[in-house]
Amino acid sequence: MERRKAEINLQIHWYLMESNFRIVFLGTGGGRFVTMTQKRRTAGIRIMNEGLNLHLDPGPGALVHSIEQSLNPQRLNAILVSHCHPDHYTDAEVLIEAMTQGMTRKKGILAAPKSVLEGSDVCETSISKYHQQMVEQRIEVAPGFRFPVHSINVSTTRAKHSDPGAVGFRFMTRFGDFAYTSDSEYYVDIAKYYQGVRLLALCVMRPSGKPWEGHMSTDDAIRIVDEVRPELAIMTHLGMSMLREGPEKEAKLIQGKTGVSTVAAVDGMTLLFGTSIQIHSRKQQNQNDLTSFL
Ligand SMILES: [Zn+2]
Ligand SMILES: [Zn+2]
Repeated sequence: MERRKAEINLQIHWYLMESNFRIVFLGTGGGRFVTMTQKRRTAGIRIMNEGLNLHLDPGPGALVHSIEQSLNPQRLNAILVSHCHPDHYTDAEVLIEAMTQGMTRKKGILAAPKSVLEGSDVCETSISKYHQQMVEQRIEVAPGFRFPVHSINVSTTRAKHSDPGAVGFRFMTRFGDFAYTSDSEYYVDIAKYYQGVRLLALCVMRPSGKPWEGHMSTDDAIRIVDEVRPELAIMTHLGMSMLREGPEKEAKLIQGKTGVSTVAAVDGMTLLFGTSIQIHSRKQQNQNDLTSFL
């Protein structure tokens, strides 16, 4: 009897675990210098839930670190790219090849702004037409766009960045919403795109006191987090000056100024997003010791 009870409890536990969204930070680095040194990985974020298998911003290393972390890229059914900078798109083509079973069958969604799909004044096409035509649905997005991906809806937010076409993404789930800002500086009204989200991942490339036009510093993040007031704020896409300054210290600064729980992501970190939000960190063997480099 007791054993049966334990089995049922275990099943319920697994069901609840399964129904959570798994958000895996395969890479938490951003910017040219972190990309070229791989002081943090630049592999983007994987989001999974009951059939949904989505890769967000597959920068350099997305394919390798997916496989290394036992997340089969052949199971992908959506790839989202926020803008036309290499730390956000370089592995998109190989992930499309994996998603389409080696380009043998049309499958999955590719959603990205025009700058990525067609090119713009600031960049060439980021993903070849050959790859673009192999996805089942190619969605050109702009801020305020809304589209379904598997069981959820996704909307695009505005990012103020050196690619003027850049967007962020907001994911609407039965547990509430979570969002990703992509690269953006603070601008008036940015909070309206994120109002009511429970979890906000911000691309905080620069530390406090080091602003850079079109990019997010800790000071920008403080203003955004203070206006949005999510349950949890996550700093990711950390640049070299941010790593030098100490992302944990900067997270404490955001938390101290806003009263909103704030965590600096580490490579391999997984969030379980459901009725509660849980963090599972994975100790990386090669999480680099910055003091040896800088
Ligand atoms: Zn970036
Ligand atoms: Zn960028």
